[in-house]
Amino acid sequence: MTRPHLHSLLITFNWNRLILNIMWAISIVVFISQWLIYEVIAPQVPFLTPLNYFAQDLLIPDSIFLLIMIGLELCHRTYPQWSEVAIISASIVLSYIYLYFIRDYFAVAPVVLLFPLFISIIYFKKGYLLACLALCFVGLFGAFCLSEHRSTADMIDLILMSCIFLVAAFTGLAVIRRGSELIEQLDMVQQSEQELRIQAMMMERMAKIDPLTGLHNHKSFHEHIEKLLEDQRLHAFPIQIAILDIDNFKQVNDTFGHWAGDIALKQAASCIADSLSHTCFAARYGGEEFVVLLLEKDMQSAWKIVEKLRISIARRPIEEMNRRHITVSIGLHAIETGETKEYAFQQADQALYVSKSEGKNRTTIQ
Ligand code: GH3
Ligand code: MG
Ligand code: MG
Repeated sequence: MTRPHLHSLLITFNWNRLILNIMWAISIVVFISQWLIYEVIAPQVPFLTPLNYFAQDLLIPDSIFLLIMIGLELCHRTYPQWSEVAIISASIVLSYIYLYFIRDYFAVAPVVLLFPLFISIIYFKKGYLLACLALCFVGLFGAFCLSEHRSTADMIDLILMSCIFLVAAFTGLAVIRRGSELIEQLDMVQQSEQELRIQAMMMERMAKIDPLTGLHNHKSFHEHIEKLLEDQRLHAFPIQIAILDIDNFKQVNDTFGHWAGDIALKQAASCIADSLSHTCFAARYGGEEFVVLLLEKDMQSAWKIVEKLRISIARRPIEEMNRRHITVSIGLHAIETGETKEYAFQQADQALYVSKSEGKNRTTIQ
């Protein structure tokens, strides 16, 4: 089974959906914590009702939060390709808004600026992280400048927060770097695995294919006929075997050389491959002999196919032999259910012998 490419795996996993779910969870935590804070401060502040507590400071940021979340959901569903940028931008806007509204209540308010930083780490993109870091500092210094009563304590907070942002960003960068390295290593392992698989496939193919003609080889023929005969014993269907032998091939070699002989072999093989349907099986049995297995309904149709093949070889001139032709003699045999491959082969071979002895370039049935 092939393993999907790691990068595609990372892309396939719906991170945008996951982050949106996290953001929905955060929104629930934010609303619950606001309520808890109200429960804590309500007894100490006279006339504080839920209405003025929420309406005064929280209505605007909470409404914006909800609106942004709805916008992100719509964007994710309708334009998923923009979802990532929208989520990053929204996280920055949200952190700015909350910072603006809570800056006067909590010294740790700028911590909300870490939110976009963490989201950019999840996306595993250095560019997002650096952009978010820059915007964190803009937010932090912006909030500091907007603050009405700047004290030494605020200065210390500013320095501490800057350090926290830097540490968070460097940690994020290290995580991204380490992760990228791991991905690269895994990619390399996967690539070499793939290369090995291709090599194994090629070796398997080479073990079954005759390199000169591209037809199946002797070994492959034996495997195929054994399987066919086994199936035939189970389901009884017609099989025909034909052995083809090039006539006077020694003479071809002697007259035109082995190189021309090889070309003649290739041409004969290509005629065989072109004339047969996908149900037939053709192999170079050895030397200038070929064997064909057919699954025709009756001997008449098998004979027609084999004869057509014989004629097509005989009609094809070979350039390297001064446009002379080669011919083949054929022995054809219908394999009965229960016959062994040795017996079937012997029958076809005997038929071939008859074709040779009766003048070659013909087909004999036995
Ligand atoms: P017949 O008509 O009776 O089959 O005669 P023939 O000459 O074809 O048969 P014979 O068995 O005497 O010779 C076969 C020749 O085929 C001898 C061998 O050199 C040649 N041969 C076998 N394999 C190859 C090959 O891969 N390339 C070439 N060029 N010749 C080959
Ligand atoms: Mg021969
Ligand atoms: Mg021959």
